[in-house]
Amino acid sequence: MSELMKVPFVSFDVMHSEIREEITSAFNSVLSKNMYIYGSECKAFEREFAMYCGTDYCVGTGNGLDALYLIMKALGIGYGDEVIVPANTFIATALAVSYTGAVPVLVDVDISTYNIDVSKIEPAISDKTKAIIAVHLQGRMADMENIKAIATRHHLYLIEDAAQAHGAMYKGKKAGILSDAAAFSFYPGKNLGALGDGGCVVTNNEELACKIRTLGNYGSDYKYHHIYKGSNSRLDEMQAAFLRVKLKSLDKWNSERQRIAEKYFDKINNRNIILPPKNSEEYRHIYHVFAIRCEERDGLEKYLYENGIGTVKHYPIPIHLQKAYEDLKKGEGTYPIAENICRTILSIPMYYGISDEEIEYVADKINQF
Ligand SMILES: *Cc1c(COP(=O)(O)O)cnc(C)c1O
Repeated sequence: MSELMKVPFVSFDVMHSEIREEITSAFNSVLSKNMYIYGSECKAFEREFAMYCGTDYCVGTGNGLDALYLIMKALGIGYGDEVIVPANTFIATALAVSYTGAVPVLVDVDISTYNIDVSKIEPAISDKTKAIIAVHLQGRMADMENIKAIATRHHLYLIEDAAQAHGAMYKGKKAGILSDAAAFSFYPGKNLGALGDGGCVVTNNEELACKIRTLGNYGSDYKYHHIYKGSNSRLDEMQAAFLRVKLKSLDKWNSERQRIAEKYFDKINNRNIILPPKNSEEYRHIYHVFAIRCEERDGLEKYLYENGIGTVKHYPIPIHLQKAYEDLKKGEGTYPIAENICRTILSIPMYYGISDEEIEYVADKINQF
């Protein structure tokens, strides 16, 4: 029997030790500038991230939830409207819709990709539908070509929730450029994460970008002149400076995640375990998480925990069964695939800096289950 190892679900130790000096000097530089909101760091990061995604505009926000909310607000979505959202996503996607006053209409997902089941979108469209939010869950993009065709046919806005997809690609195109606007989150655990909260919107629509910037800055287009009842949601200078340092390594970190995934695919061999979709030419999967599925998920979780391995359920309860969304009146059985995923899914350690020995240990333990 192999010796007990400790493999945390996530660790920033290696990532941050490699960039510690650059982060420290970014901190010192911002500290001495006497400008902490919307100064040169935020502007530079916005330019650099837009360039990274291949869009004309990027607007920093306070977090990913606000980025989604501000896109919809700027598009005029509100009370009386409906927005299509996949039934299997982080609750923020639905909350952003609710904050505008619109209703999130959930659509079940595909069991092999965990993303929205494109064949179920059209039956969910009504006279009130204004937009579709495509979520690129776990770092694999949704089927954008077919979703886009539906959006175009029904004159709906298409929005990307790219909070888990910094650098993911679909048919050679990066997340963020295949919609009217895309929302990113820089929550620390995302593939590109700040040292606190942060987010942004990317778009090619200049008018939309301006409106989002204004809405997130108290509705002010000019100091102390307010044209909307806006909110306060900005990417601060400190986080922008840290993100500029980290953006330079994003591709390296994503490649390393792909290598770790390859190793898991290679080593995990257990009939009771279902592995996630593979990285491919068509879908460049950046493995925000590496989630396996197992009918005896809770037993597996306990077994791995007892063997020193950290795991997380992404996510344990689907949105329609959350207390917060009991007003949707969608009982158990409404979205069977999302429910199945929530019952069987388990994310295993996936982070820059995990050692080969640790990957092998995790795979061995899973095989022995
Ligand atoms: C993290 C996340 C968000 C929200 O981002 P925050 O920065 O935490 O507000 C939205 N959607 C998805 C899919 C996410 O994973």
